Amino acid sequence: MSGADGAAGSPIQAYLERMYERYADLLEGEVANYIPELAKADKRWFSICIATIDGHVYEVGDARQPFTIQSISKPFVYGMALEDNGEQEVLSKVGVEPTGDAFNSISLDPGSGRPLNPMINAGAIAVAGLVRGESAVEKLHRILQTFSLYVGRNVTIDHVVYQSEKSTGHRNRAIGHMLRNFDILGVDPDPILDLYFQQCSIAVTCHDLALMAATLANGGVNPRTGQRVAKPEYVENMLSVMATCGMYDYAGEWIYKVGMPAKSGVSGGILAVLPGQLGVSVFSPLLDAHGNSMRGLRVCADISKDFQLHLFNAPRISTSAIRAKYDATHLASRRLRGSEEARLLKEHGEQIRIYELQGELTFTTMEPVAREVLQHLDTTESILIDLKRVVFMNDAAQEVLTDLMRTASAQGVALVLAGAHEQDWLPKTIAVQGPALAPLTPPPFADNDLALEWCEERLLSGRGVERVPEATVALTAHDLCQGLTPDELARLLENLQARSFSAGDAIIHSGDCPDHIYFLSKGTVSVTVGLMNGRRKRFSTLSAGMVFGEMALVDRLPRSADVHADTDVECYVLSCEKFEDVACLDASVRAALLRNLLRHVSRMLRRANEEVSVLAQ
Ligand code: GLN
Repeated sequence: MSGADGAAGSPIQAYLERMYERYADLLEGEVANYIPELAKADKRWFSICIATIDGHVYEVGDARQPFTIQSISKPFVYGMALEDNGEQEVLSKVGVEPTGDAFNSISLDPGSGRPLNPMINAGAIAVAGLVRGESAVEKLHRILQTFSLYVGRNVTIDHVVYQSEKSTGHRNRAIGHMLRNFDILGVDPDPILDLYFQQCSIAVTCHDLALMAATLANGGVNPRTGQRVAKPEYVENMLSVMATCGMYDYAGEWIYKVGMPAKSGVSGGILAVLPGQLGVSVFSPLLDAHGNSMRGLRVCADISKDFQLHLFNAPRISTSAIRAKYDATHLASRRLRGSEEARLLKEHGEQIRIYELQGELTFTTMEPVAREVLQHLDTTESILIDLKRVVFMNDAAQEVLTDLMRTASAQGVALVLAGAHEQDWLPKTIAVQGPALAPLTPPPFADNDLALEWCEERLLSGRGVERVPEATVALTAHDLCQGLTPDELARLLENLQARSFSAGDAIIHSGDCPDHIYFLSKGTVSVTVGLMNGRRKRFSTLSAGMVFGEMALVDRLPRSADVHADTDVECYVLSCEKFEDVACLDASVRAALLRNLLRHVSRMLRRANEEVSVLAQ
């Protein structure tokens, strides 16, 4: 018995080991003998694997013992036929109705000769005929290549088994010629039968099958390599036929008891898929009368029951997609506002509603979001939807969101998106067409803070606030100069130095020793810090009349953030030495400056506290 690396102490590993012990001595059933080579299988071979959709494989027993894949190849080649020909073409040749017949039954539609489904041999042979390729060699090469992508290593044919089946496969050959007779196969069936025998003879291990199952569970992307092997819509088709026909004439009882799409093969493998969650595989060559692995059936039924994996016992989606909701009276953007703007935002801020969404957005999780947003539309001016914590958004959820944007826009409400830029599911339709669909909607913002600022600006401009970026604020109107007499102002001015910067200039670097504080008299600057993920976070954007670098006066510790000029900037700087030198600034000026500074610092602290309380929701 072997365990996967790093599995020591794992409750899942321990469970698999118990399961192995439970059935190790169950030696009922027969190994397949109609293909002579398969009869040589060791009936004690037994292994169980579980592969997660992040690519971890738990394994027990003979998980690395190679055997031929046999019928388990059928759904995967079916997937290729779908990719090569499209769903309609494939459906016209092979149906999707369970037969309730044995795998090797000659179940063809009496009228059209169309095999009833692709999981019985007749259907699988017809499907092999649909694999594209200039030559037989190329077709086989493509099948091997695709299977290699599923398992994440190069797979090959077991030629001995292939020859064994080829020389005894008369029934399959009969099926092939029947298909030719009905024109389901339009060409000589023999090379197609050959391809079918070869696909059945691909050597795999139980470990491989678990990864194949996990790839299907993961929507067609191999969780180990990250490579897409099948399109999600075809994975859906593959899993559907596995669910209804994958276990031959046991399919009904299987889905009833185990509840997972699955496929078995006469060499003793079974692979089962819990979509979106995991893959299970079992290998044990002793078969029941249907041709399914006896131990495999038991193990899968137990695993499904013990871990509550039945598809129709799906866990309820209990987490709300709305992680937090608040309005702009609770949280302001990082643009610091003058008192009039701050007042307007406090008074009307409830007109900006912010929704932080989380998790997976699907129809089911998005529908309550739509209901919530619509409920407040009449009293809202802008809606900010923060997608930063969303891990995935499917097409249905995008559709609901796009519709919401349209409805909002038609009512004069802007719906602003933020935080989706680095996600590969970024709703491209929305990003590209959003503004066209909903003219009030700006393109999505990378940062929720910038999106909130956009909403605030919209609110302010609707209330008569005009942006005059050129305006220079006289020293007397600066926050830090409140309460200074004209005399005191004049004395302060004598000790200030004028400095100007161009848009984009770095004014302060984090880590530098502080030497000055800055009175911003024209333009805007932004204070930012670098985050561990390499991005930058804005702490604040300041406009004329505000102060920055002020901590220098208080603690003299190295600069904790960077400051850049957003526009051309003019400011006055006061050196820390001059501030402390009584010969330069007398006590009353210093006291007034410190009082103003204290008020400024306490305002910042209140703001930070408010933000913490909103974000702690
Ligand atoms: N190659 C085998 C056959 O056609 C596959 C059957 C199976 O695994 N059920 O007979």
